[in-house]
Amino acid sequence: MNSVVPETARAQQAPALVDRFGRRVDYVRISVTDRCDFRCVYCMAEEMEFLPRRQILSLEELLAAAEAFVALGVTKIRLTGGEPLVRQNIVWLAERIAVLPGLRELVLTTNGSQLPRLAEPLRAAGVKRVNISLDSLDPARFRQLTRTGDVATVLAGIDAARAAGFERVKLNSVILRGRNDDEVLALVEFARDRGLDISFIEEMPLGHIDEHDRSETFCSSDELRTIIETRYPLTPSIDSTGGPSRYWHMADSATRVGFISPHTHNFCHLCNRVRLTVEGRLLLCLGNEHSADLRAVMRDRPGDAEALRAAIVAAMDLKPERHHFEVSAEPQIVRFMNTTGG
Ligand code: SAM
Repeated sequence: MNSVVPETARAQQAPALVDRFGRRVDYVRISVTDRCDFRCVYCMAEEMEFLPRRQILSLEELLAAAEAFVALGVTKIRLTGGEPLVRQNIVWLAERIAVLPGLRELVLTTNGSQLPRLAEPLRAAGVKRVNISLDSLDPARFRQLTRTGDVATVLAGIDAARAAGFERVKLNSVILRGRNDDEVLALVEFARDRGLDISFIEEMPLGHIDEHDRSETFCSSDELRTIIETRYPLTPSIDSTGGPSRYWHMADSATRVGFISPHTHNFCHLCNRVRLTVEGRLLLCLGNEHSADLRAVMRDRPGDAEALRAAIVAAMDLKPERHHFEVSAEPQIVRFMNTTGG
């Protein structure tokens, strides 16, 4: 039935998720695993304990959650993690989410290590765009920053994504002072040479790490922009992807340079998203602990889609107005980014 209803009409019919501040939530980031084959120094501790299997949502539960969100007017879903592509049968899940009536786009954030094998099946499954994390082009440094990663595999993954025909492939880089801040221009050039967009993300104080002192390694987006402008003058773009990236153009290239600046350019007033952890915890804000337990609803009332939707609607009242990150303070958020779903 639904497939014959035009998308605009369907959007009008769908009940909207709106929070207490009048913000409409139409974007959900779903973490499909807390596990990862990398241990990026700003994201995780070296020794991590991952969740036992019974605590994580099954693929069927993840799909039921996605169905509930889309029925409530969500139009964009991002699969993330942990590393989403280390979850078994991720293509099965992507295929089913991609065709949910009313969903405009299914997208993915990945470290790229599994893309040589999975780029094509994921594109065929209906994933429209991918973001690939890349913090260094130097093999030894890449290994240091990821603790386990092999840059050659990730570069092969980026090539596989380009060949698979995603509508857009974007790189995400976290820059740490004294570690990879001298690679900013090289990363921009790598993106330019391949016609990819690139976003630079300010490091966020999520989880306790011992590897470095975040107040010493912090690089603001404005500093990075100054570095890039020594070679490529940037003009602000009016494009918006509905995300927190603010984009800039270079005169002689289609590559856009984005900055995600949770510290220095607060974008909470525009926030349209929530996150679902693989434990089924619906997080209303990246930088706060307000959450609702959707796993409990799904396991107490299996198959009750109405109860699940009601729990999601009720959770909107918990969405806080904004986050408060401070570079020099101890993290207020003790969960790591791999748990949150980056
Ligand atoms: N494994 C996938 C990947 O590497 O893209 C998806 C999950 S990862 C948590 C998503 C993004 O979050 C990556 O681009 C990563 O660099 C970024 N990230 C992780 N911890 C961060 C932190 N503390 N501050 C800023 N960005 C972080």
